[in-house]
Amino acid sequence: MKRLRTAGVIVLALLLVAGGVAWTQRGVIAEKVMAKVFDRAMGSDLPAELPDGLHVGLCGSGSPMPDPTRAGPCTVVIAGTRVFVVDSGTGSTKTLSLMNIPPARVDTVLITHFHSDHIADLGELMLQNWAAGARKTPLPIYGPTGVEQVVAGIDTEYTADRGYRIAHHGEKVVPPTGFGGQAHPFAITKGGPNVTIIDEPDLKVIAISVDHGPVDPAVGYLFIYKGRSVLVSGDTVPCARLEAAAKNVDVLVHEGLQPDLVNLQHEAAVAHHRDNLAAILHDILSYHTTPEQAAAMAQRAGAKYLLFTHVIPPLPIRALEGPFLGKARSLYRGPIRVGRDGDLISLPAGGTLVVYSNRLKDLF
Ligand SMILES: [Zn+2]
Ligand SMILES: [Zn+2]
Repeated sequence: MKRLRTAGVIVLALLLVAGGVAWTQRGVIAEKVMAKVFDRAMGSDLPAELPDGLHVGLCGSGSPMPDPTRAGPCTVVIAGTRVFVVDSGTGSTKTLSLMNIPPARVDTVLITHFHSDHIADLGELMLQNWAAGARKTPLPIYGPTGVEQVVAGIDTEYTADRGYRIAHHGEKVVPPTGFGGQAHPFAITKGGPNVTIIDEPDLKVIAISVDHGPVDPAVGYLFIYKGRSVLVSGDTVPCARLEAAAKNVDVLVHEGLQPDLVNLQHEAAVAHHRDNLAAILHDILSYHTTPEQAAAMAQRAGAKYLLFTHVIPPLPIRALEGPFLGKARSLYRGPIRVGRDGDLISLPAGGTLVVYSNRLKDLF
């Protein structure tokens, strides 16, 4: 018994010594871990590592409202080896990088509409795409008519920085011809026919007019690659054109606003005489879709997976996902996910497999 107690004391002492050493050496240990993280990040190129297929990820699942867990609206779609980004919300370029999708790998940007939260990070994405990728031609940016004005404005805004970068890093690293964006506007009428943006044997990208009035134009985008499909709704109320485009899609990425939770914000704004905010919180109810409405639409259309993004209001804790969805789960028989930053859904070509992962979870 005495020997056992002595052994216990020795083990405890050793643990304390080891803990003490780890504590005093914590900076050195953290540095070593960081070197490993950098090594893994630099050596990783997610688009190249994924199987051939269509993949959709959330580089920003939030809205204009501050949510510590979500960047502004941004959806990445990888079709084969090509990388598309739909909208560029606040802070989303960093999230894209953290998902091991280097901004320099983005081939094309598609903008759904020109609300500030959907274009807030576009300048950063354009700059990173150029500076980290030695791009020789401007980044193609598609959008409804008006996108040319947005791109020209950002190019103007970044004029001084363009000069600094070239002077500092040299033309080999940052070729002057690759700076900025090349706008590709397309005309689309509200409620009018879809517009095909890319029409290749294996890949189709189609713009669909949606209803986000008074915001006009506003579109969603349908991607079809080797028999797999993803529809990104953009901002909208339920509308027939979007529902038709959602027919049998593998993944419907849909915006969602829960009025019951927004009403809590509204009551707080009224109580504290934040009149402007109260007015805005009242107005936003009229041009978004509730999770229940999206679920009912997904069910009618036969969409196979419903992924919510652009979640309003902020849902910083998971316990709020139930109240956000309301009765949505009873209205749609397929899988529903309340999107979080880093979510990635993979649809390998030539099958029906659906694989979920979150690319931010194993960052460290
Ligand atoms: Zn909007
Ligand atoms: Zn929005």
